[in-house]
Amino acid sequence: MKQNKNGVWKSWNENLVYTYTNLYKVTSESELQNAVLENEKIRFFGSKQSSADIAAGSDALIDMTSYNQIIGFNDAENTVTVQSGVLLGDLLEAIEAKGWCIPCLPDINTITIGGALATGTHGTSGKLLCEYMTQCRLVLANGTIKIINEGDDLMDAVRVSLGVLGVMSTITFKCEPIYTLHVKERPENDSEWLPKIKQRLKDHDFLRILWLPHTSKGYVITGDKINPDTEVIENLGPKYLKHRRKASKILYKYSHVFPWITSISNKILAKAFFSSKKEHKGSLYQATVTKSRGSTLELAEWTIGIDKFPKVFEELKAEIDKWSNNSFIHIPMDVRFVQKDNSWLSYAYKEDTVTMGCVSRNAATADTYEAFKSVEKIFLKHGGKPHWGKRFAAKDFELSRIYKKWEDFKDVRRQLDPTDKFLNPYLTKLFNLKKLADAS
Ligand SMILES: Cc1cc2nc3c(=O)[nH]c(=O)nc-3n(C[C@H](O)[C@H](O)[C@H](O)COP(=O)(O)OP(=O)(O)OC[C@H]3O[C@@H](n4cnc5c(N)ncnc54)[C@H](O)[C@@H]3O)c2cc1C
Repeated sequence: MKQNKNGVWKSWNENLVYTYTNLYKVTSESELQNAVLENEKIRFFGSKQSSADIAAGSDALIDMTSYNQIIGFNDAENTVTVQSGVLLGDLLEAIEAKGWCIPCLPDINTITIGGALATGTHGTSGKLLCEYMTQCRLVLANGTIKIINEGDDLMDAVRVSLGVLGVMSTITFKCEPIYTLHVKERPENDSEWLPKIKQRLKDHDFLRILWLPHTSKGYVITGDKINPDTEVIENLGPKYLKHRRKASKILYKYSHVFPWITSISNKILAKAFFSSKKEHKGSLYQATVTKSRGSTLELAEWTIGIDKFPKVFEELKAEIDKWSNNSFIHIPMDVRFVQKDNSWLSYAYKEDTVTMGCVSRNAATADTYEAFKSVEKIFLKHGGKPHWGKRFAAKDFELSRIYKKWEDFKDVRRQLDPTDKFLNPYLTKLFNLKKLADAS
């Protein structure tokens, strides 16, 4: 096992920086167990792409990215087993080669599987990624392995567990046969796309709306399963569309100093980059997942039950369209849909859910981006839940009100990690455990 001493850990956008004393680079389960056993406090990380401060912050750290092998396929059961540090893109390429897919994917392929599962990573028009996991080998705080299978009581706690119950070692996913999507993209006024959400979720196999704040428009992306041989006349829009991120960077350059610039920039960006229709086909991975990112971002995302979404949306829109509060939001706000499940810390626990992203394209100035605060205030007021891997301020007090299984999760955490080995300062505050420790 490789070990680095006394270094600096930085998240991908450098908004989170820590020093560490020991950094373990593991390649086997036994190395993972030893690293956990050797330390009183330890955190572990994948691609460091979370905005939330959940991945590091302890003296000892485990870098999971070399624990990245595809262990094997079970052709009879359509399952694949991987080490948890494998990149999502590598896993997806391997299963596509088998003629399989995971039917709901996030819009990023550089994250690790362990990181994705821990934070409840999701796509649209299906379930959270963790819902396709059928088995997990978890390294517990005492260094032993606990095997958790689909159907075990513990599985509902483990699927989304922020890396506080243990380190996920190997994961087995249930795959489905690969399919081809016919994807169509077009702009629509808010008055058009908003009332059509439920019908579109019935009519289409894929639905995602890139909402364009300060323009009253959304960019609607639908996908329908087709026979792979069906001819689709590809239209990817004008060639200059590929410069959208560069143009955004330039237009938003001073938006942290003059936030109102955002409103004008969004109108320009919407006209230039979100006004043409597009049409293409491909697998879910090939046709809908972004493969490269030119620059870093800071992200927040909030989720709300589908029936409450129209009201929350209208309230949010009214709030951010005011020029008095500086809550101007960069393009786009990603609106996606997640089907209900039973995972305790899932955004979609027992309820079909809408997720709404909020991006700052100037990662370094994210602390002064008022939009994050406005979005959080409105979603929290209506019982919305934050994405675990993204930026939010809510803590135990608020989370215990919106997660029905919050206290149960805390009990399981206490049983599996009685010495709080896996807590960093952020997670300690999130679960309000400092107070408990102080009181006892
Ligand atoms: C550009 C961009 C696009 C994104 N798109 C989406 C999206 O479409 N949908 C979505 O839901 N999210 C999205 N995210 C959020 C992202 O999926 C999560 O933040 C994810 O956790 C990042 O994975 P990572 O490998 O970087 O994990 P890290 O940030 O390194 O770690 C995240 C958490 O996982 C824990 N962890 C890591 N490995 C393990 C393990 N083996 N066992 C247990 N816990 C572990 C860490 O301790 C930490 O708590 C996006 C983020 C970015 C930056």
